[in-house]
Amino acid sequence: MMQSHRSSWRPLWAAGAALVLLIVAGAVRVASSERQTAPPTRSTGDRWWKREPIRFLQTNLSENDSTADPKALVAAVADFGANTFLMNMGGIVAQYPTKVPFHYPSTFLPPGRDLFGDVVREAHGRKIRVIGRFDLSKTQRPVFDAHPEWFFRRANGEPVIYNGLYSTCINGNYYREHALTILAEALERYEVDGLFFNMFGNPSADYSGVPTGPCQCQACQTRYRARYGRPVPATADADYRAFMADSSREVAAAIAELIHRKRPNAAFLTYIQDHTDGIMSESNTAVGRALPMWPYSASDNVRRSLGSEPDKVAINLAMSFIDFPWRYAHVPQPETALRLYQNLAHGAPPAAVVSGPLPQADRSGLLAAKPVFDWHARHEELYVGQKNAARVLLLATGDMASYRGFFRVLTEEHIPFEVSENRRWMEDGSRFDLVIAPEAAPPELERYVRDGGRLLVAGATPPPVPVGTIAGRKSTQGYWRIHDRTVLPSLKNTDLIFLDGEYLEIAPLARPILTLIPTAMFGPPEKVWSDKVETTVPGLVLANHGKGQVACLPWDIGSLYYRHSSEPHRGLIADLIDRLLPAGRQLTTNAHPLVEMTMMDQPDRGRTQIHLVNGTGHHDTAYFPPLEIRDIRIDLARDVRRARAVALNQDLPITVNGRVRSFTLPLLHAYEVIVIE
Ligand SMILES: [Zn+2]
Repeated sequence: MMQSHRSSWRPLWAAGAALVLLIVAGAVRVASSERQTAPPTRSTGDRWWKREPIRFLQTNLSENDSTADPKALVAAVADFGANTFLMNMGGIVAQYPTKVPFHYPSTFLPPGRDLFGDVVREAHGRKIRVIGRFDLSKTQRPVFDAHPEWFFRRANGEPVIYNGLYSTCINGNYYREHALTILAEALERYEVDGLFFNMFGNPSADYSGVPTGPCQCQACQTRYRARYGRPVPATADADYRAFMADSSREVAAAIAELIHRKRPNAAFLTYIQDHTDGIMSESNTAVGRALPMWPYSASDNVRRSLGSEPDKVAINLAMSFIDFPWRYAHVPQPETALRLYQNLAHGAPPAAVVSGPLPQADRSGLLAAKPVFDWHARHEELYVGQKNAARVLLLATGDMASYRGFFRVLTEEHIPFEVSENRRWMEDGSRFDLVIAPEAAPPELERYVRDGGRLLVAGATPPPVPVGTIAGRKSTQGYWRIHDRTVLPSLKNTDLIFLDGEYLEIAPLARPILTLIPTAMFGPPEKVWSDKVETTVPGLVLANHGKGQVACLPWDIGSLYYRHSSEPHRGLIADLIDRLLPAGRQLTTNAHPLVEMTMMDQPDRGRTQIHLVNGTGHHDTAYFPPLEIRDIRIDLARDVRRARAVALNQDLPITVNGRVRSFTLPLLHAYEVIVIE
């Protein structure tokens, strides 16, 4: 479980930061936004996680679960239908008789027992792969007494102690040296198929949500001063976050090297993108998290991982529990099922997490997951080698609300899209017809547009391409007046679009499309708009730049849509996307907006898959089974010889109209895959 379970999302492209800690709905990633070249990758043949269908089950054992019967545990994993099992191995507590100093077997492990070793043997006997879980972020008092310099220091000099465990520091020699000794023993002794690291890096808060502040240990101070010429700040800022992210990357590089040297076929898995073979993320809940819920959590996490690092595996964990204090009580079953279907639809394996051994006190988490795992087992061939075929890219820039607003419009409009947190996609910019920067577009996009790219940018920060003289940044609770509907056919029922918040004041246009009406009197009704002023401040600028085109909405339409779901905001975004797409949409449909569709290629099989995830069961804080939906028509602007609905087990008749091929899915339950050949 991640340290930022309760945290909010932070912007990726923070000014001047080469690396920032990105916190997404409870999942922390270290994303490199500056790196130009990918680290060397091994050949696909080595990587079981890229060539085999994976059904991933994780259980987090407490130390007093060390008495679990390994045969029964693995039998339960097999019965559940998982073929990859992630279980506690070492770090805070070792589930094997480790001989490395300052590394402690569970005191509950019966004498002579090797729980982890027995599980590996049992699991491999059943062809189940085993991932060993380590947590190096904390350890026990005797280690602190012997090596206080390995540990996190608060500003007052005190260590961070939680339930008797002392927090280590990513820059101390527990992480940087001793951990490699611990891991070398583990890798030499056990035929693990991978290692997973929880809490990789210095958490900013403990499990109870109490902030730790920046680490002031000697190792951090020395490294920080060498980098910035000043001491570690009292509170975390962008520089400190960049420093921490780099620190985690450095340790990740050393651990990756060790794993790949000692056990070349083992995967390195954690929540960061750099040096790992698989990127972990979580779809989770927390009782203190601000509403609204984010029903696209799994879609979002997997898109980010694979869109940013397409050569890796994305393991998005459906966390069964409600929040840390309730490890053994689970979220609604349809919520778990929805997360798992979203994983499948975006190219990730089904992955479920429970706490404690099997069977569970609350059976609902695994009961919800089992039908999805069974489906996956019956249709494994659908899920290996999927690549997102979308030709629209949404950048994970700006703040969370702006991004999610665009994410929702694209999903509700059924426009296939990919997400990236970095700029590796620019190595082959032609893969996308349109790039959308919800807010704070990175400056490199200027080159992308100049070379012929199409860009939709929104928000009250200056765009990366010239759109006219900018007079400043202002704020209002007003409207945009619509002047030109030829560009905006969706807005035929209104002359006004509402605006709440900041906008960038750009010089007037000769042919305005939207112009600002700033705040005017709104009460009492007798006085409304008595003082209204119509300005020439544009709310939309369409511009050519080099060989490319840009549409700039100089206000934060994304976060407005995220919060209010205004129809004109959705229509405006959809119309601009249609205007910018040179060959129109890849896919059009009459599907309900809460049916999520993805278009995934399977290059090795020469086919495309359209996944449909039925999200109609979500309402406010509730998840119910989705409503059945009939007669979903899909039009594709490509050749289609055969369209087969896998869940219905039937071929769909194809009609031809010019270059468009159409077919109709007669019935959608929770999930469907249409295989296009
Ligand atoms: Zn430190």
